[in-house]
Amino acid sequence: MKVPMLDLSEQYASLKSEVLEALDSVMSSSQFILGDNVKKLEADIAKYSNVSHGIGCGNGSDAIHIALQAAGIGAGDEVITTPFTFFATGGAIVRAGATPVYADIDPVSFNLDPNEIEKHITDRTKAIIPVHLYGQMADMVRIREIADKHNLIVVEDAAQAIGAKQGDYTVGQLGDAATYSFFPTKNLGAYGDGGMVVTNNDDIAEKSRVIRVHGSKPKYYHSVLGYNSRLDEIQAAVLNVKFPHLDTWSEQRRKHAEFYTSLLNEKVSEHVQTPVIVEGFYHVFHQYTILTERRDELQAYLKENGVATMIYYPLPLHVQPVFESLGYKEGDYPKAEKAANQALSLPMFPELKEEQQQYVVEKIAEFFAK
Ligand SMILES: *Cc1c(COP(=O)(O)O)cnc(C)c1O
Repeated sequence: MKVPMLDLSEQYASLKSEVLEALDSVMSSSQFILGDNVKKLEADIAKYSNVSHGIGCGNGSDAIHIALQAAGIGAGDEVITTPFTFFATGGAIVRAGATPVYADIDPVSFNLDPNEIEKHITDRTKAIIPVHLYGQMADMVRIREIADKHNLIVVEDAAQAIGAKQGDYTVGQLGDAATYSFFPTKNLGAYGDGGMVVTNNDDIAEKSRVIRVHGSKPKYYHSVLGYNSRLDEIQAAVLNVKFPHLDTWSEQRRKHAEFYTSLLNEKVSEHVQTPVIVEGFYHVFHQYTILTERRDELQAYLKENGVATMIYYPLPLHVQPVFESLGYKEGDYPKAEKAANQALSLPMFPELKEEQQQYVVEKIAEFFAK
């Protein structure tokens, strides 16, 4: 049996006629940039996030950059974030002209640990970027409290967590802004790049809209330095077809996660730590990530047996060569480093079959039985 990390083909087959019709309507209208499809998606995703504005942009990385810039974060400012994330979180901070300052993670949720934040706050700290890793929100209630106490902006990197909740709070509700990615592999994936800023803050919304069109308002009059980063109509049309299915897909992911966890706990509980859904949180399982000390060997064994896995992420940001000049070293963030050494993400997508999951766990058990 072969089990891919992700297979988007079945989803496309189920939506094919609707997608083709939506694409044809964009092509026929010849309105390719910032038209009705983008407007509709912006309104729907803002509503879904319980906020008043959505600003479609070119990708999820630019969405973080735009939100930071719109919130007035720039040169001389420090932004606290997690070292255990995709490069784009740190990259956006540096591109905005600010300096990333890392705080270690909570080893249970893999997210920025609120208890680690305050010791890194200085008089230059202006913002916090929690990343809702693997589909589970960071503790936004605590992070909001800390931010309010120190007068800091919070931008949620929700690239992996559209639809996640903490209690009744949606992504975007407690942050000054939140950012989504519509990269094809994300829970709501386009057929190319795309992203969005969502916010309840009229000023951040207005500035984000200007920044994504070269800082131009009115057209050809530039008062701020923006760039070209727009969600295009083709991608928005695809996303408008997919969005109504998002909650069903999240439920399927959660069901698969529950099944993996029951099988793994039954067969290899002494070798593998299964993901924890923090009490009161709604996890949308962008990834199903286990921890194991023999991670690299296990990954190789699974590969030989037709099971694809991924390591998100093997090297934390504080030790990435590009950020060397910030002066961090190995050992600075032990919990993030441990996760980077032990995390292994198993195949996860809504259309994943029970037999495939059984096969994956069977092979994991076989590996540890040797
Ligand atoms: C995917 C991702 C991004 C970047 O999104 P793109 O659309 O690929 O630019 C940012 N942060 C995290 C945590 C991500 O997973």
